Amino acid sequence: MEPEPKKRRPLQKEEIDQIRANLLKREEELWKEILQDLENDTNKAHKEVIDILREYGDMALDELRESTAISLIEVKYDELKNIEKALDRIDSGEYGRCLDCGRWINPARLEALPYAIRCRRCQSAYEKSVQFIE
Ligand SMILES: [Zn+2]
Repeated sequence: MEPEPKKRRPLQKEEIDQIRANLLKREEELWKEILQDLENDTNKAHKEVIDILREYGDMALDELRESTAISLIEVKYDELKNIEKALDRIDSGEYGRCLDCGRWINPARLEALPYAIRCRRCQSAYEKSVQFIE
């Protein structure tokens, strides 16, 4: 067997730019889908939320969390939050670095899971520790 190539490395600027573009595109899609979900729902209470979203766009993310509409769009809301966090990490230069061990995450992992905040090893340790607490 060939030796395993060195997989951990910082992302290149082009890779980061591509990831950022993908995240922004996905963010836009999600907002459209959320608006559509709310408009298609028969609950009249969503009207107010829709107005707020239309007016403030993604500034209204926290507003959304508080609203009665949250159960309807919870999965998409969570994804939006993940996108927001990933974009923050890109801006601070921390994107692609493992939250726990501080080493670079394998770029192939980030490609499959762009919201990953831990390397594979730390993520599995983290999941075990959470299970243990529960
Ligand atoms: Zn790690």
